[in-house]
Amino acid sequence: MIKAYSIRVRGIVQGVGFRPFIYQLAHKLGIAGSVINDTAGVLIQAEAGDAALEEFIRRIASDAPPLSHVSSVEKTETPPAGIAGFTIGKSAEAAERAVFYSPDVALCADCLREFMDPSDRRYRYPFITCINCGPRFSIVSDIPYDRANTTMASFPMCPECAAEYSDSRDRRFHTQPTACRRCGPGLALLDAGGNVLADEPGLIASMTVDMLRAGKIGALKGLGGFHLAVDALNESAVAELRRRKKRPFKPFALMAGSIGIVESFLEVSPEERKLLLSKESPAVLLKEKKKHVAGNVSPGLTWQGMMLPYTPFQHLLFSLAPEMVLVMTSGNLSEEPIAYRDGDAFDRLGPFADFFVTYNREIIAQNDDSVMFVELGRPLFVRRSRGYVPAPFASRNTPTKILAVGGDLKNAFALARKDFVIVSQYLGDMADAMSHAAFRSAVSHFTKIFDASPGVVVSDMHPGYLTTSFADEIAGAELERIKVQHHHAHITSVLEERGIDGPVIGIAFDGTGYGTDGTLWGSEFLVAGRKGFTRAAHFGEFPLPGGESAIRDVWKIGLSLLYRAYGRDFPVMEHDAAGAVLLDALDRGINAPLTCSIGRVFDGIAAILGISRTVSSEAEAAMLLEESAARGNSMDVGLVLPWSQGPCRVVDTMTLVRRVVEMMQAGVPADDIAAWFHRAISVTTAALVREIRNETGLSAAALSGGVFHNRILLRQIYELLTRDGFEVLVPEKVPVNDGCISLGQVAVARAILAQDR
Ligand code: ZN
Ligand code: ZN
Ligand code: FE
Repeated sequence: MIKAYSIRVRGIVQGVGFRPFIYQLAHKLGIAGSVINDTAGVLIQAEAGDAALEEFIRRIASDAPPLSHVSSVEKTETPPAGIAGFTIGKSAEAAERAVFYSPDVALCADCLREFMDPSDRRYRYPFITCINCGPRFSIVSDIPYDRANTTMASFPMCPECAAEYSDSRDRRFHTQPTACRRCGPGLALLDAGGNVLADEPGLIASMTVDMLRAGKIGALKGLGGFHLAVDALNESAVAELRRRKKRPFKPFALMAGSIGIVESFLEVSPEERKLLLSKESPAVLLKEKKKHVAGNVSPGLTWQGMMLPYTPFQHLLFSLAPEMVLVMTSGNLSEEPIAYRDGDAFDRLGPFADFFVTYNREIIAQNDDSVMFVELGRPLFVRRSRGYVPAPFASRNTPTKILAVGGDLKNAFALARKDFVIVSQYLGDMADAMSHAAFRSAVSHFTKIFDASPGVVVSDMHPGYLTTSFADEIAGAELERIKVQHHHAHITSVLEERGIDGPVIGIAFDGTGYGTDGTLWGSEFLVAGRKGFTRAAHFGEFPLPGGESAIRDVWKIGLSLLYRAYGRDFPVMEHDAAGAVLLDALDRGINAPLTCSIGRVFDGIAAILGISRTVSSEAEAAMLLEESAARGNSMDVGLVLPWSQGPCRVVDTMTLVRRVVEMMQAGVPADDIAAWFHRAISVTTAALVREIRNETGLSAAALSGGVFHNRILLRQIYELLTRDGFEVLVPEKVPVNDGCISLGQVAVARAILAQDR
C-alpha cells in the first residue's frame, strides 16, 4: 500500500547536512520524493510503503547529523503522485520564517587531518570546513541558510569544490562555506601600516610565531572577530598589551596547542577536559597546578581561562610551536565591543597591534569567546557566546513575539516567538557607545533572521538604563511595554530555563539593580513566581558614595561601611584627606544613595582588609577576596548574623562589619577573616532561607546574580541548602550574571501575556 506524506522538520536543520542525510536515508529505505530547505525549516515529500515510511520518519529524529537539533517532525498525508527517485530541490520561501541555524563550531577531526596532510588539496588551507564544522552564525546574513545568504556569496566555487558540493556521498555535500585555495577566501599578514608582508598560510604562520616569540602583539582575525595575541610567557609583552588595552587587572584568556600542554600546568578534571575539547570550544576557567605563564596574565589569581585551537589557522600556528601558550583576548579597547570588520579593526586596533593576520571574508555577526567553569560537577557559563549562540531554547508558546532587551551590563538580549527563545551573543556594557551601537544592530539582525518583529518590548525598571530608553523608543505608542525588576528577572531566568512557574525562594546576589522602591538592591531573597514576587529579606543598607558610577573606588565603600557601623571614629583603615572629605560628605548625606548590594559588601570588606583599594574592572576586589578566603580557614564563631523580623527581614550587615574589625584588632590573618566572611554570608543565607521555608512551605531555592561566580560562596550555599533538603536550582543554560536578565524578562512577559488573554 503506497502512501505519501508531506513532512515538516523544525529545529536547527539547515547548514548541518540535513538534506544529504535525508537523501541518503531515503535511498537506503527506498523512499521516493524530495527534500528542500525553506524559511520554516526542512520540507520533505515522501512516498513509499507504509512500513518504510514509518521507519523513515522515526529515523529523521533519531539519526540526525551531529550539528542538527530536531525540535519537531510533523507529517501530513497527501495523495501519492507516483514519483520515482529522490531529489534535493531548490530552497523556497515559506509563509513563515522560523528557521534556526547552527552556532560557529570548532574545526572537526576529519578536516584537521586533511589540513595537516601535505597530499590533500586543502593542505594548510585556512578556510577548510565541512558539513560538521566551521563558521555558521558569524557568516549568515539571512535565511534560508544558503551560500547566497552568507558572506561566502562572493566566492564562486571552483569545479572541484562544486563537484564535492553536489556529490551526496561527499562530506562537503551542500556545505555552504566550502572552499579551497583556488576559489575561496585567502589569508594575509600585514604590518601595522597595512602593508602586506605575506599571503601564503605556511609563511604567515611561521612569521606570526616568530613575531609573537619576539614579544610582538598580533591582531588575529578569528571566527567571531579579532583576537589580540601575545606570548603568555613573556611578562613584558603581556604588560605592554595591558598598557595598550588599558586593562590593568582583568584576566586574559589563554590558548594552548594541546590538552597535554594545558594539563602540564593547570588542573583539568574529566568534565573540564570534555568542555575544552568540545565542538563549542569555550575558554574554561582552570585552577593552576604550577606557575607557568607570566604572573600578569591573571594578576593575584590562581586560575586561568584556557581554550584550545578551534580555527584552522590557530591549529597551524600551534603545529609550528607546540609548546607556545598565547594570550588570546578579544580585540578591543577595555569596554568596547570586539572588532570584527577589517577597516574598523585597523582603525581601532592599529594603535596597539604590531601586526595583523586577516582574511577577505566578512564577519556578519561578531561573537566573543564563551567562558565557562565547572562547579557542582556541571559546566556553568560566565559568558555565553561563540559556539552556543544562536541555538534556541525550547519554551512555552507565546501568542505575541517578545523582544527582551536585557540589562545595561554584560548585555545579551532575547527574542521569543512561538515555542522558542533565542538569547543573543554577549554584547558588553551599554555605557560604551560602540557597544550600544553593536546592540542596536544585533537587535535588527536577529529580528530579521528569526522573523520576530516584536509585539511586546520588555526591559529592566532602571530609569537610567540605556536599554530601557531603547525599549521605550522602539515600542513607541504602538507596542505593549513591560518592565521587570532586575532581581525578579534574575530569578525568573532560572524558572524559564527549567520550564517551571514557581514560586521558589530566589536568592539574587549581585552588584546593583534598581529596586521597586527606587533604592539600589542587590542581596535579595525573593519569594518569586513568573508574574510577581515578594521581597522576603535582604541585607542591611548602607550609603554608596558617588552612587553606581563610583564603584571603582572600593576604598570609599570600605569607609562607608565603617562609618555606618561606628560613626566617624573607627579603629581600622587609615585614611587620608580624600577619606576625610568622604566622611564629611557622609555626615551631610551628600550623593550617597542607599544600597543593600552584597557585591558592594564584598568590595568594601576587601578594602577594609587592605586587599583592594581601587579596581579597574567590576569584580576585581571580590575575586581577590575570594582568593584570600581560599588561602584561609574560617573560625566557626558568630557565623549567623542577626536579622530583624517583619514582612521583609533585614540582615544586620553592620554586625558583619564589626566582627571583621574585631578580628582585625585581634590580629587574625586577613585570609582567615576573608574565609570567615564567606562562611558567614553562606551560613546566614541558608538560615534565612530555612526561615522563609518555614513560613511559605517552599522547598525549592533558585540562585542567580553575578556574585555566584564566587565559587566558594556558590559551593557553600549550594551544599548548606542541599543538606537542609532544598532543591537548589542553579542556571546551566545562561550565566548567573546579567547575561541572564533578558531570559528572565521573557519569562515574566510570557506570564503577563498569558494572563491578559
Ligand atoms: Zn569538518
Ligand atoms: Zn575550490
Ligand atoms: Fe544583576
